Amino acid sequence: MEQRRMERRKEPVTDWKPRTKLGRMVREGKITSMSEALSSGLPLREAEIVDILLPNIEDEVLSVNMVQRMTDSGRRIKFAITTVVGNGDGFVGLGHVKGKEVGQAIRRSIDDAKLNLIEIKRGCGSWQCGCMKPHTLPYRVFGKSGSVEITFIPAPRGVGLAVGNVAKHVLRLAGVKDAWSITDGKTRTTVNMARAAFESLRGTARQKVREEQVARLRILSGASGVAEGALVTDPTKADQSVAIEKESNVPTPEDASSVPPPKAPDQKGGPAGAPEAKAPAKAEPRKPESKPAAGGGGK
Ligand SMILES: [Zn+2]
Repeated sequence: MEQRRMERRKEPVTDWKPRTKLGRMVREGKITSMSEALSSGLPLREAEIVDILLPNIEDEVLSVNMVQRMTDSGRRIKFAITTVVGNGDGFVGLGHVKGKEVGQAIRRSIDDAKLNLIEIKRGCGSWQCGCMKPHTLPYRVFGKSGSVEITFIPAPRGVGLAVGNVAKHVLRLAGVKDAWSITDGKTRTTVNMARAAFESLRGTARQKVREEQVARLRILSGASGVAEGALVTDPTKADQSVAIEKESNVPTPEDASSVPPPKAPDQKGGPAGAPEAKAPAKAEPRKPESKPAAGGGGK
């Protein structure tokens, strides 16, 4: 797996001449947020829309695969590029494009990711936490691509992203700070890992939630608006070995309400089956929140 951070495209969007209805509405200021654009029902066909509405969007190349094919006229080489984009605060997209020239294919893949942008839901979905901030998944979500299956499980604050490497990039750009995962299948296939992770996140958007759940799990859709600095560069090196996790004893949130919250598993002694639960969560100190009063999580 190859990691590369692309130069942010800095063409002035002022020169942009929209070709679609949604583009024109954004250009004319009739639509001013990504949520509005996505819920407008109009197709998102111009990457500039995303550049304007989410100016701090970041992209990351998840994989560059060389694809060789023999033809009558000789060998043809193409590159399959998988990219992920996100604002680190509730919006994420996945792109996959093939092309003859790497640089150009990467740019097209990033645009593809922007056009596939989705708005996700986050919450304090872990019954062990109760911090009431949208730092994790609101509930368990499942995604599948090829043989790869991923379930993301809400985790308490401080756990970090105890998930495989590819999923980590997708969650980070989506703005999910804490999560556990169960993965199965050929987890070395980056493309399917990324797709399964993305499908899981799409599950947060698709699932209907009741008012009562929204209140109890503090579910938030899209941007929280307080995620400045959310996209600190992930120091995680690209690691070929995406761990195959098979956790069975991750607590289920279902019986949450009846059980008094036990001590959240601490970093070292996490659930026995969660090899990655000792993620380097303590590495970077959490930024103080704007409302320090709510910090302690006391009840
Ligand atoms: Zn929480």
